[in-house]
Amino acid sequence: MPSQKRHFITLVYLTLSITFIQIPGSEIFAVYDHLPLKSLEYSDSKIIKVREEIKYNLQISVSNLEQKNLVPLRFLVYKVGPKDTFFKIMARTGMDLDTLSSVNQLASPQDIYPGMELLIPNMRGVYDSEESSSEESVRKRVAARFRISPKFLYYDDLRKSWFVPGRGLPKEEKNFFYGLVFSDPLAEEGRVSSKFGRRKDPFTKKDTFHGGIDLAASEGTPVYASADGEVSFSGTRGGYGSLIVLKHGLGYETKYGHLSKLLVNPGTKVKKGQLIGEVGMTGRATGFHLHFEVLRNSMRQRPVFKGHV
Ligand SMILES: [Zn+2]
Repeated sequence: MPSQKRHFITLVYLTLSITFIQIPGSEIFAVYDHLPLKSLEYSDSKIIKVREEIKYNLQISVSNLEQKNLVPLRFLVYKVGPKDTFFKIMARTGMDLDTLSSVNQLASPQDIYPGMELLIPNMRGVYDSEESSSEESVRKRVAARFRISPKFLYYDDLRKSWFVPGRGLPKEEKNFFYGLVFSDPLAEEGRVSSKFGRRKDPFTKKDTFHGGIDLAASEGTPVYASADGEVSFSGTRGGYGSLIVLKHGLGYETKYGHLSKLLVNPGTKVKKGQLIGEVGMTGRATGFHLHFEVLRNSMRQRPVFKGHV
């Protein structure tokens, strides 16, 4: 699964959805809908209600009132249908890009699939991606960064993160979401030979999940850092063969597998486009190719960058 952890979070939310989540000594975090949102029709009563609440809450959060003036945070649960797109769901539910992607921890608009359960909150806002502590001093720090009164923030004890009503994603995070941060690690010298997602395993022929994309290229093709970062691993690891792992900002990592040459050492800072290795077929590979993965908070994401999606 691309999103085992995310799925787990959704499942936990659903399990806890019987009434609400009460955090001892603090405000209620949110109320979860028992019954899933069945349709995206504008005439659906749940859609009408959630759109009204979003509008109302937006007015409150841009004014200087307090959290108690908001309609309390609650989530609808929507199961993605085969013809749904990120933007259709966003428009129909009165969401905006920042809210829908942040609440559901999506890495890109392509990062949804039929059957996936999306949470639709009744207010716009985003999760802070930097702080995890619920301490009052942290509340103030997050509020200051988002230029909002600390009284507005909700602490989500399950996710260990602050929900900031009425605010959007920081620019850097938005750039990741639009695929503007990562570049093609082979500088268009490769050809996509296997996409991200479900596929037949080339060895066992069984249906498996492919957590990255494969870019076929001849042996020795230069491999470049896909974004600025720091080398966190350079060595041999199981099926990946010779592997380089780079750490980027905001919990993002990239992996470069099956290399024939490793040209950087752990701890080295690298720039986007810097040469880090060469294409090979070490590890579990049937031909010369780069196995490229993008991870966020250890979850594998659909790699999105210019050239290959
Ligand atoms: Zn692969």
